[in-house]
Amino acid sequence: MKVFWQNAHMAKKSTKTDRPTCLVCGASGRLRRGLCQTDYERYRRAKERLPEDRRGAYEEECVARGILLPSRQGCRGVEDDVFAQTLAEFQEEKRGGK
Ligand SMILES: [Zn+2]
Repeated sequence: MKVFWQNAHMAKKSTKTDRPTCLVCGASGRLRRGLCQTDYERYRRAKERLPEDRRGAYEEECVARGILLPSRQGCRGVEDDVFAQTLAEFQEEKRGGK
């Protein structure tokens, strides 16, 4: 019982201490949606090739294949929507600008 608890505790601790790694290439470092910068960029570029109404489905497909984390998963990817936010601000600025 005690040993089991210890193992569970250790496992928990090790996953917490381990840096998250890229779902595709296993690189550690700054991740977005579970991907390193390179792979996230690849994903993003691939997604951009699709018409907007199909991007959601493509994203879901990537999540289903385990190569992308769902956006709602936890607060780890708080920066996820920084592009959407920037875009919104950018468009607003452009529209409302001088
Ligand atoms: Zn990667």
